[in-house]
Amino acid sequence: MTSTGNLCEIFSGIQGEGLYAGCRQVFIRLYGCNLACRYCDTGYAHNAADTYRVERSSGRRNFALGANPASAQDVVSAATMLFAGKGAHHSISITGGEPLFQHKFVREICMGLKAGGQTTFLETNGTLLGELEQVIDYVDIISMDIKLPSVTGAESLLPLHREFLKAARQRKAYVKTVVAQGTTDRELLDVLEVMESIAPSIPLVIQPATPVGGVLAPKAEQLLLWQEMCMARLSDVRVIPQCHKIMGQM
Ligand code: SF4
Repeated sequence: MTSTGNLCEIFSGIQGEGLYAGCRQVFIRLYGCNLACRYCDTGYAHNAADTYRVERSSGRRNFALGANPASAQDVVSAATMLFAGKGAHHSISITGGEPLFQHKFVREICMGLKAGGQTTFLETNGTLLGELEQVIDYVDIISMDIKLPSVTGAESLLPLHREFLKAARQRKAYVKTVVAQGTTDRELLDVLEVMESIAPSIPLVIQPATPVGGVLAPKAEQLLLWQEMCMARLSDVRVIPQCHKIMGQM
């Protein structure tokens, strides 16, 4: 392995979002992102630092520091060590930031993890198709976002999401979309049109926004109506908030 990249942290924790919420995972968080969502809660992972932190024993929050750029080999070794430590881990999550922002680094990390028999889980904003194609052979599960303008504060990314989903469906995948009080039915209908035409059996997780950056959490009635609207067109639609924040997890 020759690739190096900018790493933020490696630790063992409880997945707090999406279809696998509640599962124990080892998290490999990389620096950098191609977007600037208004509600982003991982702003600390946007600009690379000179060092990264790595947990020394699984879930004990006893971090040591390493120097960036980190080698893919070191990342694989650290994640594998934590995976084998305390707790029955489900998989190893590659997250960010946007991990595909450093796709060559991610490719080598995932290759190394797969060579060791690990299950790899990619958490992505679902916009970088060319980069996904470079790593998809080494990824088992894809958690992809569909970003709505009402929460990102930016233009629609649906054309990018549409093409990304066509590739992601080759793997075990699900879509997560964050909704806020200002989300419109039209935005969700557009998501449904894309999912129904490409992958109607892929689960959709509607994630109520945690209030931040002026984004307001949706009302209870909105969530009930949106789930009904989505269930009329897709086979598996769940409403799951950011559980790790409730649990005080990283
Ligand atoms: S894609 Fe994710 S990491 Fe990037 S700005 Fe949006 S929420 Fe933050």
